[in-house]
Amino acid sequence: MSAIINQRPSSSATSIGEGIKPELIQKTESQIARITSIYLLTKEEGFVIISEDRTVKFFLKRDSGQFWPSIAEYMPHVPTKFVYDEELMCLLVGLVNGAVYDFEVSEDMNSMTKKRQWNAHTSSITGLFISNSAQMVFSCSKDKSIVWHCSETGYKVGSFVLEAQCTAMQFDVDSKFVFVGDYSGSVFVLRIVGNSAQLVSKLSAHTGSITDLAWDASRQLLFSASSDSLVIMWDIGGKKGNCYELSGHDSKLTCLALASQAARLFSVDDTGSLWCWDLRAKRITAPAWRDNDRCELCDVPFFWNVKIMWDRKCVGVRRHHCRTCGNSVCGSCCNNFTIFPAMGFEKPARICKTCNTKMQQYPEQFDLTPLATKSEFRHGVISMHLQERQGKLVTVGYDRVIMTWDISKML
Ligand SMILES: [Zn+2]
Ligand SMILES: [Zn+2]
Repeated sequence: MSAIINQRPSSSATSIGEGIKPELIQKTESQIARITSIYLLTKEEGFVIISEDRTVKFFLKRDSGQFWPSIAEYMPHVPTKFVYDEELMCLLVGLVNGAVYDFEVSEDMNSMTKKRQWNAHTSSITGLFISNSAQMVFSCSKDKSIVWHCSETGYKVGSFVLEAQCTAMQFDVDSKFVFVGDYSGSVFVLRIVGNSAQLVSKLSAHTGSITDLAWDASRQLLFSASSDSLVIMWDIGGKKGNCYELSGHDSKLTCLALASQAARLFSVDDTGSLWCWDLRAKRITAPAWRDNDRCELCDVPFFWNVKIMWDRKCVGVRRHHCRTCGNSVCGSCCNNFTIFPAMGFEKPARICKTCNTKMQQYPEQFDLTPLATKSEFRHGVISMHLQERQGKLVTVGYDRVIMTWDISKML
């Protein structure tokens, strides 16, 4: 971390444990088509994948120690999303044409039988959820709609249309809240009441499209990952509209995985950087960015402030924002960088002169102990799935390689 200018020793290495990394258990290559999504099985050693070659495959570990497919089912169109309920052995597969197929998987995981098909949407399925208690199947799609069907009768119960393409979905069983991320970067909170949905709130903070969502029901926290390289933690249960930026990634986020018992969130990006965030850590919200047409510290006008530029015969400069106080400041008043984990800045963020002086003068008020750890996978990750009880994580990369990791020490 040589880039950190404002570096001071902190009380402990990290709140999670420094140097603890995922350990590679198994590597499976030789997949011809790109895999879009993966599920790690727990009843037997194995995983389920969907691929661009239109297949759904179950892989089980054989006596040779290698994984071989026990099921390879061809779909009529490319599958884009799936969910698997291991207890009920129920598999839902969403397709690029907007259809959702409902399969029953046999006890030995050697065959699957189609139970039902819903022509739920007119474009790619991007989110699926089965709620056994509500007997409901939720789907969302690039066609901007969210649809819910009764899982017993198969009937369509209701639907709701957003302004932009839906990209990810989560569901809270108790409150019947559906969280839907969209292509514009917003997250919508909808409450399902029978056949209608009420819009509870629209969460807007990302500047790129939502790529994944995770819901921690026990802490009532929603996590959104975006192509803007940020993870945002939304305190839904706090009912104060608080949100916390988790800033560490340098590239487009692709996937989130939650270990609720251990209070850890894993986020991964398309370059293969994995961050593990401590959810027990006390965090503070980053300030809103203040608006001004001149630097709040040295008064130099910003470049669009033509009047002052003309009056003072000076050249306007670019505006920056201090990440810890939110002030509008010029580049020379804002050229210090520091990590500030309590505010989610695990990588150095730009801060103003005033904040920098404060941090230097009163180091005891600014704990810089990292609240997350970073590891590097050997491939950019498209999809990952975590099984907390097994302490295992599976990743699938753009290189078509599937890797199983032991993450028990990180939990
Ligand atoms: Zn200035
Ligand atoms: Zn500041």
